Amino acid sequence: MSDGVLVLNAGSSSSKFSVYVGRKNGELELSCKGQVEGIGVDPTFVAKAPDGTILGEHRWHAKVERSNLLSYLLGWIELHLGDVELKVAGHRVVHGGREYSAPALINDSVLEVLESLVPLAPLHQPHNLALIRTMSKLHPGLPQVACFDTAFHRTNGFLATAFALPRWLLDEGVQRYGFHGLSYEFIAYRLRRIAPEVAAGKVVVCHLGSGASMCAMDNGRSVASTMGFTALDGLPMGTRTGQLDAGVLLYLLQEKGMNAEEIQRLLYHQSGLLGMSGVSNDMRVLMASDEPHAKEAVDFFIYRIGRELGSLAAAMGGLDAVVFTAGIGEHSLELRARVLRDNAWLGLAVDDEANLAGEGRISPVRAKCSAWLIPTDEELMIAMHTREVLKARAAAE
Ligand code: ADP
Repeated sequence: MSDGVLVLNAGSSSSKFSVYVGRKNGELELSCKGQVEGIGVDPTFVAKAPDGTILGEHRWHAKVERSNLLSYLLGWIELHLGDVELKVAGHRVVHGGREYSAPALINDSVLEVLESLVPLAPLHQPHNLALIRTMSKLHPGLPQVACFDTAFHRTNGFLATAFALPRWLLDEGVQRYGFHGLSYEFIAYRLRRIAPEVAAGKVVVCHLGSGASMCAMDNGRSVASTMGFTALDGLPMGTRTGQLDAGVLLYLLQEKGMNAEEIQRLLYHQSGLLGMSGVSNDMRVLMASDEPHAKEAVDFFIYRIGRELGSLAAAMGGLDAVVFTAGIGEHSLELRARVLRDNAWLGLAVDDEANLAGEGRISPVRAKCSAWLIPTDEELMIAMHTREVLKARAAAE
């Protein structure tokens, strides 16, 4: 039997899972990964081997309780990964507030704190916590660990996190937190392995997926990021606005008579690349489109990356390297090339051959500021943290 770590990432309509096993050399190895989609409608389950081969599929033709879906997953793991014994579950939890700068072993008091943070991440946190509670009921003996998207940015100082609001609002936690922390932490870890001299410098990481943000890291520690109080700030995203003058919200309330729910829908689901282009939230579709508004949305995304790059370099007092990661950052060589060319004034440049080849350094050796493509792996980061927390608990007992 091998010890297994189950990684869970719960969303509103889909949840992802991965199973890792510990190897004798201490490394964690991916055993399988998959997801349940269409939760709340007619869900589908799929599990794949690391090479993408489908190991299991199932479709329900009606709405199914979330607890039954988790039960199905646990049963499937037991049946199909017979030599794996789950020892712990690690969850991606969006918000750890000011309280958590590291992963936490879940107990009732931790859950209470995380519950109090729901208003700060109303679209994500409730799903994360619901899955933790369901798991406690189905598998009460299984330790669970919360890994936070905010924790990596707890090293940001006052100036990087403050808003110029009255003190009483700052005191109750209205500040910038930053997200995608597990992805940035993984990139810091990988960069230390593949280019330690670069990792020790001033690096901006661009996490460009359907959610997008950028992080300034000095010697592997987060100094500032583009996301703020919620996951709405910074870069435009698939369907989210990114940075927006707060006066626009007053205009929507006072002049357009919109209520909070309508504004929330507009900001999170109807804006960003989708809203601007009127075509799609998918960068692949926009790049292939002849529609002028699609081109404008792509140009705006690239322009905003450049604006934030300058701002984050200023926050660190310099820039040695830029890293691209996540769906768009990893797969669009055109976007990487355009960002690097547009920001040549910072010492950036692209090596077209290396950019085509994929993972690793994508800038010419002579470039003053190097550029890298590093695929992110938030699940592996969660698995590593989760195993560490479990080890620390065993050592303390
Ligand atoms: P999530 O934030 O949902 O985890 P991902 O990191 O998986 O997102 O990124 C999804 C995005 O990546 C999609 O919006 C898609 O447009 C984009 N993407 C994937 N492949 C490409 C590609 N070849 N070129 C441009 N964009 C791509």
